Amino acid sequence: MKRQLVYYPEDILRAKAEVVTDFGPDLVTLAADMREIMHTYRGMGLAALQVNDRRRVIIVEYTPDKNSRDKPIPFTIFINPKITAKSQETNTMNEGCLSIPYVEVSVKRPREVTVEAQNVTGESFNVKATGMLARILQHEIDHLDGKLILDYDKPAYPVATTKPRTIVWGSTEFTTTALNILRSSIDLVQIVTETAKPSGRNRELTPTIAKQYAETLGVPSAEPEDLRDPRVYNYLLSLKPDLMIVAAYGRLIPQALYTIPRFGTLNIHPSLLPKYRGSTPIQAAILAGDKQTGVTIMKLAPEFDTGEIVAYGEYKLEGTETYGELEYELAQLGGEMLKEILPDYLAGKLATTFQDEAKASTTKKITAPDRWLNLDDPAELNERKVRAYTPEPSAFVLLEGQPLKILEAHVETGKLIFNIVQPAGKNPMPWADFLRGWRKPLAFDSLPK
Ligand code: ZN
Repeated sequence: MKRQLVYYPEDILRAKAEVVTDFGPDLVTLAADMREIMHTYRGMGLAALQVNDRRRVIIVEYTPDKNSRDKPIPFTIFINPKITAKSQETNTMNEGCLSIPYVEVSVKRPREVTVEAQNVTGESFNVKATGMLARILQHEIDHLDGKLILDYDKPAYPVATTKPRTIVWGSTEFTTTALNILRSSIDLVQIVTETAKPSGRNRELTPTIAKQYAETLGVPSAEPEDLRDPRVYNYLLSLKPDLMIVAAYGRLIPQALYTIPRFGTLNIHPSLLPKYRGSTPIQAAILAGDKQTGVTIMKLAPEFDTGEIVAYGEYKLEGTETYGELEYELAQLGGEMLKEILPDYLAGKLATTFQDEAKASTTKKITAPDRWLNLDDPAELNERKVRAYTPEPSAFVLLEGQPLKILEAHVETGKLIFNIVQPAGKNPMPWADFLRGWRKPLAFDSLPK
């Protein structure tokens, strides 16, 4: 049987362990498994409850750093351990726990304890412990009664001495803006991005902004075509990620992949879910003339944008934002929010809420007819369209059958006034300059059916 470390808030960590009466070879196997896990996570002690075994068994082993004055503690198994005496004198130290990663708590304990226990054959022995051994023994014996460091004091943040090994999924500037803020809080081991798409005049394959960003950081990037290819699964598994973060990755990630990290996968979505699920939430908020939008951090779920919500952040809209500007602001907000909640999230201390399906709405990909400005429509609507599609892919009108991109416009006495336009194959220019070159009546066309 392969044992695994159990993490807070699993119920078993709060259980009272049971007295061992059966001293057989199975105890040796249990202790060996525990030792392996303790070494993997570089701990100094472990209780059987932490590997899902309800027996009163703890192990300790400590090899100090070369420069430390601490004494080494050889590997020892304590069965049915009991504290039989403790000193009046106490000391206070920051303690961590393998089952509560990235958290340290200040804990006051007696400086010396005497522990009575049995070995694997059932013989009793006594240990008078001081220093590090006294502390480890008290911590592990606490575990056997379901007591954790969190019961002593509030965790002190920031304490992350080890950052979570993180894989980031994303493709756009939204990804890199958020990641820039998060970088100092994570150990970024891999970026997964969408495949290069043809762009520019020569239809050259251009890697995504996220891939270019990975190169400048010297972080490996991957562009898997088929997310169901077992090689993708095996590769991601081999990275032993603690966490995955998804920010503007346009494809559905299979459950087999997003459940790989022990802390799961979080998605930064630029809307207040369940409003505006799907691929164009930022544009949708501008188009609707909303007074407020925001960012949701949620756990990934089998369907797009339906996961349990971990955090919300609201953003007030002035009614002047372009898509590009708002994308940047929401990416910043998302990065900051996730950075702030990450320690609590990793400590398992954040409650999540389900989305209200009745209030859900979905956005869709933008098509050419969406971007066309029908000048018979209200000017306010057209002005919002201009902002929702700036800088990319741009709203447009048809002038003698040719598209003219409208990059900036405003409403004046109920009329839409163009500020900056861009004719096909030319640079952007002020509308006045364009008119000077046009010298003909303006004949705007409808979109051909
Ligand atoms: Zn512990």
